[in-house]
Amino acid sequence: MSDILSAALAGAPADELAGLPLPDSYRGALVRRSDMAMFEGMESSEKDPRTSLHVEDVPLPELAPDEAILAVMASSINFNTVWTSIFEPLPTFGFLDRLAKEGPWAARHALDYHVVGSDAAGVVLRTGSAVRNWKVGDKVTVHCNYVDDQDPSAHDDSMLAANQRIWGFESNFGGLADVTVVKANQLMPKPAHLSWEEAAVNALCNSTAYRMLVSPNGARMTQGDKVLVWGASGGLGSFAVQHVLNGGGTPIGVVSSPEKVALLNDLGVEAVIDRRAANYAFWSDEHTQDESEWRRFGKDIRGLVGGEPQIVFEHPGRQTMGASVFACARAGTIVTCAATSGYMIEYDNRHLWMKLKTIKGSHFANYREAWDANQLVCQGKVLPPLSAVYNLADVGEAAYQVHHNLHEGKIGVLCLAPTEGLGIDDPELRAKVGEDRVTLFRRHGA
Ligand code: NAP
Repeated sequence: MSDILSAALAGAPADELAGLPLPDSYRGALVRRSDMAMFEGMESSEKDPRTSLHVEDVPLPELAPDEAILAVMASSINFNTVWTSIFEPLPTFGFLDRLAKEGPWAARHALDYHVVGSDAAGVVLRTGSAVRNWKVGDKVTVHCNYVDDQDPSAHDDSMLAANQRIWGFESNFGGLADVTVVKANQLMPKPAHLSWEEAAVNALCNSTAYRMLVSPNGARMTQGDKVLVWGASGGLGSFAVQHVLNGGGTPIGVVSSPEKVALLNDLGVEAVIDRRAANYAFWSDEHTQDESEWRRFGKDIRGLVGGEPQIVFEHPGRQTMGASVFACARAGTIVTCAATSGYMIEYDNRHLWMKLKTIKGSHFANYREAWDANQLVCQGKVLPPLSAVYNLADVGEAAYQVHHNLHEGKIGVLCLAPTEGLGIDDPELRAKVGEDRVTLFRRHGA
């Protein structure tokens, strides 16, 4: 890989890169099929990604006609890698086995290991014979919507495709590796003013937040909307608050420490609730919710922004959904993409129907939405919330940090990039956006 790395770092021309032989194997972060039962009987919080995620050499798969092979400079930790590494709610090998039934190329994915990771920034090393829009040497980021474009159900909104998958979670050969294999329709231009690790942390969470809030497929946020954002300095939330600010809305961020409040204030979010300091007890016991605590939460929101949120950006799930449905304004939308604290949800339906509220499910983003969200990063209008950087060898620790909510924003992972700070091709745009703004989360995370 060293020749490829030197050439990629030096911005070698396409013919030089294309002439370098690809390695037979590459380093990837993986879980093993034989480990699937290793955490049986343990609580989620006891399941340790540091013991289940391994960095090993694996064979390079053959390239399908509609795919590209990338040298991965950097990747990031998403919560789905935490789920894979603790084998919850299901071991991901079932996804790979189902994918494998779709045909000979798909069959490559059912292996005894699963190389994980659903973000990447890197350089195209090879393109399949059917790839038209990308060439060797292109600097790219990758979105994780993995669709079969020969499936008719994928041709309205591809997120509605019957066999839509998330790359690196429901498919193999993910981005936490030195090399990855992706479909050409996952590629997007790398933001030129960002380093590799800054460029690698955006696609999954930014695209998801964009669809939830900005896209016509989501909550259709408009100017002046008040938007309640749970986990507002986390992976999804740090993009959500930026989309609200950019769209002329008022974000109300919920976080769990004074440091996170300060970070959001620096980002421009004035209304922030520290849920730990407020000590909300939405659940009085495992089975009972306390409406008076929902009321106290609603009053705190109104005290900050003078009214109820038209949109609630939901993902914690069981712990917060009752409060979210209650706090949302009349005719408002609770848009949800996850349930980190539990997916068996309870809320008081009277507050939903009597006030004509809507709960809307959302999941990642189609190519168009991911592309548009990426353009906002390319233009410097959405900042990368990179707060910490780990080497690929330490991927288990990086996933542990996210599993235990010890991080802010996003954690980047250096794969082939030997150090931080490489890959910035447009220093003028970076200066225009502001070094302090681009590195805001990193400085807070340090
Ligand atoms: P993250 O970086 O860990 O951030 C989530 C934040 O939520 C945490 O930082 C925490 O913030 C807050 N939170 C966690 N548990 C909470 C609770 N019980 N009550 C209130 N707040 C809580 O994770 P993420 O990347 O934003 O992802 C969040 C969830 O969305 C995960 O389950 C992930 O799998 C899912 N997801 C789904 C999609 C999709 O396409 N469907 C895409 C991306 C992510 P504070 O402690 O500061 O409050």
